[in-house]
Formats: sequence, structure tokens, C-alpha cells
Amino acid sequence: MTKGKIIIISAPSGSGKSTIISALLERGEIDMQFSISATNRPPRGEEQHGVNYYFLSDEEFHHAIDNDAFVEFEEVYPGRFYGTLKSEVSRITDDGHNVILDIDVKGGVNVKKLYGEKAISIFIQPPSIESLRQRLTGRGTDAPEAIEQRLAKAEYELSFAPEFDCIVVNDELEKAIAETDAKIKAFLAE
Ligand code: 5GP
Repeated sequence: MTKGKIIIISAPSGSGKSTIISALLERGEIDMQFSISATNRPPRGEEQHGVNYYFLSDEEFHHAIDNDAFVEFEEVYPGRFYGTLKSEVSRITDDGHNVILDIDVKGGVNVKKLYGEKAISIFIQPPSIESLRQRLTGRGTDAPEAIEQRLAKAEYELSFAPEFDCIVVNDELEKAIAETDAKIKAFLAE
């Protein structure tokens, strides 16, 4: 089994991808570590610096761009930047571990292009836009305007699905977790 592989999980926001990633990490069956991204958005709820994200100021984020610190970064929402730090990926892969990335669809496509066969890109697809609306509302962490903004974006993001190595439809969480688990294990066994 080769170590230091890249597992890319992308999806429209609210598709349950973070839940799937957390479940797999908690089980601990797969040797992979979560790549903590940098962002200039403020923390939500219980989120902590250095756990969920590295929360940077606008200035710090742009400084990191200027210093070529990112494998990739995207302006996922207007003025809201998210990026995968080179230091974060190498921190994990240099130790011989695999890395799992929770990144937006454009970032996912870019990272796959960058790493080729060393990476698997998995697209988590919500069964419908309506189910997405319910999930985002139920999560209770976003204001109604933010939810509408995310839904409009989700429709656009869904069009990226064919560019991924595989698609997992999240109509039933346990099934989606099992499918994602199987795809990652098969890829790591290659
Ligand atoms: P949220 O604000 O809900 O935590 O994340 C918004 C979106 O940004 C999600 O789709 C998430 O996957 C994406 N994202 C998080 N980190 C990164 C990153 O490092 N790069 C890119 N391109 N997207 C990211």
C-alpha cells in the first residue's frame, strides 16, 4: 500500500460531505488525516482555529497567496477565500500518511489535475436541490440569505460532477458513508 495519497471530497455545500468525512475519520479504519484549510471567513458555532480551519484575516490570507503558500485556493463565495496549504499537505504526507481534503468543486478538479493517479476525486451529490435546502435550513448555522446564496451556487456546482473520478449520491447517509469508505479503501489498495 502506497502512503501519501490524496483523497479529494467535493460537493455542493450542505450535501453532507463534512458529515461523511467526520464519520470516516472517527471510525479510524483508514490511515488518512484531514487537511485543515485556511480561510478568511469567521468561525461558525463551535469551530476552532487549527481544528476546523486556520482562520486568517484578509491580510494574512492574501499574504499567504503572495508567498505561494497554497496548493490551490478559491474565492468560494464573494470575498470568502479558502485554500489548501502546501505546508499542511506535506505535514501529513511527509509522515507517510494519506490526506483527505474537504474542498469546493473547482478546487477538487484542480487538485486532481495536479496529483493525477496519486489522487482520487469523489463528488458527493445531494439527491435534489430541495433536499439541500432542507439540510441547510436544518443545520441552523446560516442566515436565510446565506442559504439562498448557497443554493444558487449548488446548482452550478452540480455541473462539475462528471469531472470527478466517482460520484456518491447522498440520499441515505449510512449508505453514502459506506460507499465513500469502499471507494477510498479500493483506491488506497491499488
Ligand atoms: P464552509 O464555509 O461551509 O466551511 O465551506 C464552504 C466551501 O469551501 C465548502 O465547499 C468547502 O469544501 C470549501 N473549502 C474548504 N476548504 C477549502 C480549500 O482549502 N480549498 C477550496 N477550494 N475549497 C475549500
